[in-house]
Amino acid sequence: MNMCYQCVTIKSSTQDGIGVCYICRTLACPQHGGLPSKRPGFHCSRCITGLITQSSGGSTSPPGSGTGGAGVPATKPPAPGSGGGADRAFANSVDFELQVPLLAQASTEERRKVDLSAVREAIRRLFGLLRNEVPSHQDFLDRIGSEASEAIRDEVWRQMRQRENAFGYWQERGGVDAGVSAERDAILGRYRAWLAEDLEPWMLSVYPILNENVWVGERDEPAGVIDVLLLADAMGLYAYNWQLDLERSPFRRLDVVVASDPALVVLAELYSQSIAAYA
Ligand SMILES: [Zn+2]
Ligand SMILES: [Zn+2]
Repeated sequence: MNMCYQCVTIKSSTQDGIGVCYICRTLACPQHGGLPSKRPGFHCSRCITGLITQSSGGSTSPPGSGTGGAGVPATKPPAPGSGGGADRAFANSVDFELQVPLLAQASTEERRKVDLSAVREAIRRLFGLLRNEVPSHQDFLDRIGSEASEAIRDEVWRQMRQRENAFGYWQERGGVDAGVSAERDAILGRYRAWLAEDLEPWMLSVYPILNENVWVGERDEPAGVIDVLLLADAMGLYAYNWQLDLERSPFRRLDVVVASDPALVVLAELYSQSIAAYA
């Protein structure tokens, strides 16, 4: 049994793994991993997604700093004056495609679908969230709470159809609604804490000047310091890794919410909110 973890868990297919991820230690096949030339070993595609996200801002993202993949929380901003960019994992989108060609090829369709205007809008909303303004943390949490509730309710009903005694189980716990609320509150508690404590350090780790006009340019300007195409690659790869529809809220997908990097979940949520305006 040397199967690729993502093939087995997400695609329900079996493919031999060819390498163990340097960061998260999972086994991955060539369509779910690769050897970035500026990093010391094989990486799975979930951790490569984190490397690309960091690279989009020019960050060097040293291994172990927790930059995505496998639920590793991003915590450390780069040292001031570290002058990011010199050793970023991927210089740009083409460099990513050249360094990990099989993974790039496998994820082409998902990456091509990502709308660049919506990525820029998602970043602007990320800054709104950072300032706790538009959206405020509470508005954001209300919205993801209702999305997650739908997913949890679906899951509970699926269980009830599959297990004869599941109904009694939920009745003992105050009924289905109470059960759904408890699950939802657990998710909200996690994201409330992430917004308060981890959002700013994560953004600093991507690019250390927290200003949206610096990141993506003024509204009438073509670009800022963030390589939007590379960030779009990260989002497309994220969609590919999880077989996630980026036009819907990721909070409909409990497996993604529970197991993937909260930074990417939040970014995907803001993207799904932005896409309506730009599609
Ligand atoms: Zn695979
Ligand atoms: Zn990994």
